[in-house]
Amino acid sequence: MPQPFPDQITALPFLNAGTILSCPDCGIGLYLLTKKVTRDGTFEGAVQAMAGVPEYKRGSTPKTCPLCQTGQWWYPPGTIHTFQYGWVA
Ligand SMILES: [Zn+2]
Repeated sequence: MPQPFPDQITALPFLNAGTILSCPDCGIGLYLLTKKVTRDGTFEGAVQAMAGVPEYKRGSTPKTCPLCQTGQWWYPPGTIHTFQYGWVA
């Protein structure tokens, strides 16, 4: 999965609770935000892992989808794929 083009990325200053981090390839939901996160914040303690997905841990969270094994939902530092908005940064 190549990195998304800049015109595919929506700039958002924060992500609201209820936003779902999802795989760009197969579309499966990976992590649910349980509180608002600003873009300079961390997801640790603010996301709930969906069924079958490893708990989010800073520094050790896999960036590849555990279901399809190909989709990469996170390009550090801050480009991530969401169910609601597609790619955001
Ligand atoms: Zn996937």
